Amino acid sequence: MINLILFGPPGSGKGTQATKLADHFGFLHISTGDLFRSEIGNNTSLGQEAQSYISRGELVPDSVTIGMLKKKLEEENNDKGIIFDGFPRNVLQAEALDELLSESGHEISALIALDVDDEEIVNRILERSKTSGRPDDADESIIRNRIEVYKQETEPVFNYYDESNRSHKVQGVGEIPVIFERLRSLIDSL
Ligand code: AMP
Repeated sequence: MINLILFGPPGSGKGTQATKLADHFGFLHISTGDLFRSEIGNNTSLGQEAQSYISRGELVPDSVTIGMLKKKLEEENNDKGIIFDGFPRNVLQAEALDELLSESGHEISALIALDVDDEEIVNRILERSKTSGRPDDADESIIRNRIEVYKQETEPVFNYYDESNRSHKVQGVGEIPVIFERLRSLIDSL
């Protein structure tokens, strides 16, 4: 079983590449952003709680996020592996994830970060907003807040897994199939 974290700032292509990798390798793809949007779409109490944070570009509180992820892991069964997209987003979430996986004798095999600079990210997300229907994609100040939150809270997760030599960086600018190939060959070499 290979468990991967696809890492990187908002708009770095995690969702696109995670979908393609899950398809190619037969992994289960878990995106906490997608799980939240589904809860919001179904107007659940969890969705209502998450919405105000998401609309400001802030992180949803850990207790809510980790609880939702735990439930998802309990529901799903996949022996090939899991690709985590958008989780963990801070060190506390990383510790919780390690703990949850270890309960079933598993661990994170690698974290792979997509490297994309800030201005490219802002342009990509504004472009994506034309079709994503996501209010948090359509406002430049919210996008810049998401990038700031990423730098302050999320980036340390790279170092957390780097301490055990499990963090890798991949150039995230270029054509989608080219980036996919970079990721595929890295995963094949793990
Ligand atoms: P994403 O689709 O990954 O860009 O996530 C959209 C929004 O959902 C983020 O800006 C956060 O508000 C929230 N979110 C997604 N994943 C997490 C997480 N692991 N922890 C806290 N908030 C999250």
